[in-house]
Amino acid sequence: MLQATQSRREAEARFGAGVRHDVAKAVRDLGASSALILSTPAQSESAFEMASDLGEMASGVFAKAIMHTPVEVTEAAIAHLDELSADCLVAIGGGSTIGLGKAIAYRTDLPQVAIPTTYAGSEATPILGQTQHGLKTTLSDPKVTPEIVLYDPELVRTLPIPMTVTSALNAMAHAAEAFYAPNRNSETDAEAQRGFEAFARGLPRVLRAPDDLDARLETQRGAWACGRVLGQVGMALHHKLCHTLGGSFDLPHAETHAIVLPHAIAYNARSAEKELQPIVDILGGDSAGGAMHDFAKRMGAPLALRDLGLQEADLDKAAELATKAPYPNPHPITKSGIRKLLQAAWAGEAPAF
Ligand code: NAD
Repeated sequence: MLQATQSRREAEARFGAGVRHDVAKAVRDLGASSALILSTPAQSESAFEMASDLGEMASGVFAKAIMHTPVEVTEAAIAHLDELSADCLVAIGGGSTIGLGKAIAYRTDLPQVAIPTTYAGSEATPILGQTQHGLKTTLSDPKVTPEIVLYDPELVRTLPIPMTVTSALNAMAHAAEAFYAPNRNSETDAEAQRGFEAFARGLPRVLRAPDDLDARLETQRGAWACGRVLGQVGMALHHKLCHTLGGSFDLPHAETHAIVLPHAIAYNARSAEKELQPIVDILGGDSAGGAMHDFAKRMGAPLALRDLGLQEADLDKAAELATKAPYPNPHPITKSGIRKLLQAAWAGEAPAF
């Protein structure tokens, strides 16, 4: 269950083609009447569509969300908010836009409607990552979890296929690490399994027919389940390594997750074979890392960190940064082990373990 403070409503997801047009009802259900709508510049058209659906309940549009939630952008949005009479937020977009909504909610306690257009899953978590002076920090607070989420498959239908694949693998990574999280329980296991299965089934369907709204909806149900487990259990090697690579080498979020996932899973399967068995059961194959690698390859995912611009000469530094601060992980983290993992991920080879 998502954490919620006593005064807050339980986070709720509503699914269906066209459900974004019920945004006015969602705002009323929050007990609010005036929304500031958020998006990236590229998705401002969707933000203005929401403004039109909201009519007089639209207080303004702030279409300046960018990756990594810089504090300056949040402050600019709050300055804009101060000129309006908004009593809630509507964020339409991927993790970057939803991150901006969460950063504003963290500072103002305004309730939020999130309308995701990727599978990243941020809408389901109390986690907020923000960047200031080039440093990304993460906090967890129940008040940043959006109260209502509208999953409309018509919105992910426009997600280009390469982003569909990397974003789906980003979501599957939450479930994969939930399988071996030290604080998992039977509910998170079941939810991780549901989320993982939804992508294992739904993603190939989406690739065969990207306009199939039913297949898109299946992947969105997966995103909700994977996001929920991300919010409830601790993540380990995979997420920490992607955080290091994204933060220190400016690598793109979803693509980095997609490439690293089979390698991180293979690394940990040596100490968590039983916990990772659901991956083998769902995807087939002999090992969790191998199954993940074959699935990513079949889906046409990027496989090599070098294709994202990472230099081979950076791998030593990456291994050093990634092993600096200890954290719980199924298999012992060693610098040589991580260096070996990174070499295979950099070259686009099958996992080394
Ligand atoms: P994103 O939100 O940065 O979107 C990437 C680009 O794709 C943007 O230009 C966006 O406008 C565009 N886009 C999004 N949806 C589209 C669509 N349907 N059609 C066409 N274009 C579309 O990407 P993301 O991967 O969703 O989010 C990444 C960010 O989210 C990272 O900063 C990451 O740290 C954060 N995140 C946070 C959490 C959390 O729980 N706090 C979880 C996952 C991700």
